[in-house]
Amino acid sequence: MEEKSIFEKIRDGEIPAQMVYEDEHCMCFRDIQPQAPVHALLVPKQRINRIGVAESTDATVLGHMMTKVAEITKTLGIDESGFRLVVNNGRDGGETVPHLHIHILGGRKLEWPPG
Ligand code: 5GP
Repeated sequence: MEEKSIFEKIRDGEIPAQMVYEDEHCMCFRDIQPQAPVHALLVPKQRINRIGVAESTDATVLGHMMTKVAEITKTLGIDESGFRLVVNNGRDGGETVPHLHIHILGGRKLEWPPG
């Protein structure tokens, strides 16, 4: 069996996390190494390794996650100031955890283009 990802361990309560939002399909918790004043990760509970391997059967949970962004960013206090969603994929994309996650970044003016 494939080893559990860090985020599956958080899901199963084996690693603590500062949870911001949770329902049966997804969870959102604060990043352990924040890159902005507000930095949270929105993660499907059922593992999808990365966006580049998502299939049509993942459409419901991925759509669900996107519709939760409004509520989560309100909870984080960045719904009005603005925020950025980032999904890193593969080596060049900067992915380090092989369990799909959407970075939610805000709390300061973010640069564009990113590094
Ligand atoms: P990636 O580099 O794959 O796009 O993003 C992985 C993110 O997971 C990084 O921003 C990293 O700081 C975060 N991360 C890694 N391990 C943990 C952990 O144990 N707890 C939390 N809350 N975040 C983690």
